[in-house]
Amino acid sequence: MAYKITDECISCGACEAECPVSCISAGDAIYTIDADSCIDCGNCANVCPVGAPQGE
Ligand code: SF4
Ligand code: SF4
Repeated sequence: MAYKITDECISCGACEAECPVSCISAGDAIYTIDADSCIDCGNCANVCPVGAPQGE
């Protein structure tokens, strides 16, 4: 299952550079993850200051 970024995201951008498959991008209000590319590594959740990326 892919990780998903919740509304907790403050758009700091920290996770984008940590994604090994570059599937995180800035959205209108929050950053978003391309679920088809995410390999479930957890890097985004590890660097996020507010715990916005959630695995399943
Ligand atoms: Fe990228 Fe890994 Fe986060 Fe998926 S879990 S969005 S592959 S950093
Ligand atoms: Fe949003 Fe967390 Fe990514 Fe920052 S690290 S852009 S708060 S999901």
